[in-house]
Amino acid sequence: MNTAEPLRALLGARYVEDRERLKRYEIPERGEPGHTDCLLLPASAAELQQVLRLCNEVGRKLVLSAGRTGLVESQRPEGETVLSLEKLNRPLRFELADGRAFDFPAQAKPEEAADALANWWRGLNQPALDGAKLEVEAGLAVDAVNELLRPLGLMWPMEMGSTSAATVGACVSNASAGANAVSYGTAAHLCETAWGYWGDGSETGPCRAVAWQAPPPDRLAIDSASVQPAWGLIGSQGLFGVVTRARLRTYPIPAQREAVLLPVDGMPAAMRLLDAARGQFPGAIEEFEFMSRQSLQLVETHLGAAFRWPFETPQIDSPFYVLLQVESRDAEEDLAGRLYDFLADKLQWPAEKIGYAPLPLLKKLRHSITESSNARMRVLGGGRLSFDTATPVAVFGDYLAALEQELRAAHPEVELIAFGHAGVGGAHLHLLGSKEQPVKAHAAELVKLVFDVTLRFGGTFSAEHGIGPKWAREFQQRAPAQLREALAAEKHKRDPRGILNPRSFGLVETG
Ligand SMILES: Cc1cc2nc3c(=O)[nH]c(=O)nc-3n(C[C@H](O)[C@H](O)[C@H](O)COP(=O)(O)OP(=O)(O)OC[C@H]3O[C@@H](n4cnc5c(N)ncnc54)[C@H](O)[C@@H]3O)c2cc1C
Repeated sequence: MNTAEPLRALLGARYVEDRERLKRYEIPERGEPGHTDCLLLPASAAELQQVLRLCNEVGRKLVLSAGRTGLVESQRPEGETVLSLEKLNRPLRFELADGRAFDFPAQAKPEEAADALANWWRGLNQPALDGAKLEVEAGLAVDAVNELLRPLGLMWPMEMGSTSAATVGACVSNASAGANAVSYGTAAHLCETAWGYWGDGSETGPCRAVAWQAPPPDRLAIDSASVQPAWGLIGSQGLFGVVTRARLRTYPIPAQREAVLLPVDGMPAAMRLLDAARGQFPGAIEEFEFMSRQSLQLVETHLGAAFRWPFETPQIDSPFYVLLQVESRDAEEDLAGRLYDFLADKLQWPAEKIGYAPLPLLKKLRHSITESSNARMRVLGGGRLSFDTATPVAVFGDYLAALEQELRAAHPEVELIAFGHAGVGGAHLHLLGSKEQPVKAHAAELVKLVFDVTLRFGGTFSAEHGIGPKWAREFQQRAPAQLREALAAEKHKRDPRGILNPRSFGLVETG
């Protein structure tokens, strides 16, 4: 049977075969372009279910696409049809803990929707918002969610460089972790309930994950290689089904935030600093990010005159820098003073090494690393291998030190750029080659080295970006047999014809 006709009849102009329009869906955020002959743009959950049913009838393979910012090539088609969630982008309902709820008007523009919600809340005399939830369709972008919540003083705390495009459904499915995961956990934890369809087109939900509780320092805090079938669609990276809507936990926007950039002698020292900060600001550390000297130097080169060290005299000799951000719910307290006293008095941190600057400036340093690395890669012309690893926080400093040492010993020619979410033991590692010595020539060896060291420290080779096709082979080689078998069984149950993201995790015979 041919599915083209029924799909075209179902979707009309949203069944796309036009080559020009398909191009953008062939290019992933990272990696080589793929290819597809068809794009499907369902505009409702019912249409999406119908698409899944029709594709199941003939085993038509699909890759899921939403904001297209994913970093493990899941959204890149290799001949599969692209099923995009981009039309499912409406806010649905805002609900207070006492059950009173606001349903968004169906056709409202984003600003109108935000105004309508704020007016409803004011009309009720601004009741308490503790425990309020926001339900949205899966294809709504993270920034759009926060535009809706901001007038109420609330937020959905995903802080990533990609939030203008990255969608709620993808973040929930990928258990994406922002820079502030140390405080709020991953998007899986930030989602109270998700609904959608299994790969076979049958309805599913409510799927539930648990709210975030920081694990003890000797346990992994984030690990997107360990999908939990019990959470259903949440965290399952489009393996078993498609999230169509999610109900999100909301959080108050802190009354104050303060941050400092601190040079440190090494990551073990940084982790001791984190420990002390936790004691001083219990539950109030929103971010603890790290940047290697090389990564900040790249940012300095890339931003040129726009770059500012937040110190009176540049502190260029430290191997690492950390960005410590604390928050307070009390608008009146002297948070900046408390942070300064903690560093200067309690830790005896030299004043010239306390980098104060307005928060957006400090964030810009951190968020400019990826584009600076891209620029450096183009200059060097030897390609890049990028990794997203995590270890338990207790060994994170030792892990990075060992990794750098082993990499230097085996491949002194490779440039290592390390940065990421130290508060949850997460590291983004970019390995850059040169024109003369491209990383491609030693890719297998470099991947093995990074993965071996990571696993030796009790870590994971996929902290938050997921597995996708990019790490499918390594997942099959390195994940515990019990996990592989559990995921294969769940895949078979939920998507028996293996039509969804068939190359992800290496669970489906694609030969
Ligand atoms: C500059 C930059 C910074 C980033 N920073 C971070 C970061 O700090 N932390 C982090 O975790 N990630 C980060 N990412 C990665 C990325 O933003 C996340 O993986 C995000 O979840 C992808 O969202 P998307 O809508 O773009 O998904 P897409 O790229 O369109 O889709 C990727 C895959 O997600 C799954 N998926 C998407 N929607 C659904 C759905 N509705 N149901 C089921 N599965 C679905 C599918 O497997 C799909 O193939 C960053 C990316 C960039 C480019």
